[in-house]
Amino acid sequence: MQTIPAKQLVYSMKKGSEWFGADYNMNIYRGCSHGCIYCDSRSACYKNPDFDTIKVKENALELIRDDLRRKVKKGVVATGAMSDPYNPLERELFLTRNALELINAFRFGVAIDTKSALVERDIDILQDIKRHSPVIVKMTITTGDDVLCKKLEPNVYVSSERFIALNELSGGDIFCGVLMMPLLPFINDTEENVLGIVEKAKAAGARFVYPAFGMTLRQGNREYYYEKLDALFPGMNHKYAKAYGERYMCTSRKAKKLWGIFVERCQELELLYDMKAITRAYKSGYEQQQLSFI
Ligand code: SF4
Repeated sequence: MQTIPAKQLVYSMKKGSEWFGADYNMNIYRGCSHGCIYCDSRSACYKNPDFDTIKVKENALELIRDDLRRKVKKGVVATGAMSDPYNPLERELFLTRNALELINAFRFGVAIDTKSALVERDIDILQDIKRHSPVIVKMTITTGDDVLCKKLEPNVYVSSERFIALNELSGGDIFCGVLMMPLLPFINDTEENVLGIVEKAKAAGARFVYPAFGMTLRQGNREYYYEKLDALFPGMNHKYAKAYGERYMCTSRKAKKLWGIFVERCQELELLYDMKAITRAYKSGYEQQQLSFI
């Protein structure tokens, strides 16, 4: 197991970069072994060339304890950007679980992004946290097809297992839903895929589906993605190069149409799909309580 030094773990979110109303961000691990072929966190700008090797931040729990103790304002701590907090090491190390215990002890809320069904293990602590503070779990699911999933995200639980995890979370009364992103141009940006995910999310008790009809590509992740496309979908990288060149935002050409059918189905199924509405819903009832801690 590799470790890296760290001075602080819980950072305030930069103004304007709020993601689902989180106030703080925390990453116990650096790098990720899930192997998603489209991962933006491999981009050269992040200066993590051995991205697939998970590094553990030294003294993570002590740092989190100190950071939380020093925060004057209570709020929601996000985890899961740039690295999945439920990677294979977490199964043995329990660092994310112990961090949730600290978040609970210091009476903060939590917002988890993951692709791992291991999050189910911590439902008991999430239930404790939600007694006093907001809790949201966002499960990323990009395709309803496990075979395609295994190509796009080779080293993590397949989509059907993630839907089962969502079912467990919602059954445990944890506010949860799907991040349906990225929808990769020419691959999973289809009507069938979008509607399939929305319907499975509803069946699993999700409260929301939040989409992105496209992806981002930049130096580092573009080369890696093209190499994988070449092996998995021969000829596809030329299609990308022709359609998007060196562009960062690669929006699906079907985005407008997909958005229309997505919104219609979400409304029929009473699923939330707007970030502000999702944030309001999972924080509902806590505002007064949080203010009383300031
Ligand atoms: S789970 Fe997230 S951080 Fe990990 S490889 Fe996939 S996209 Fe990257």
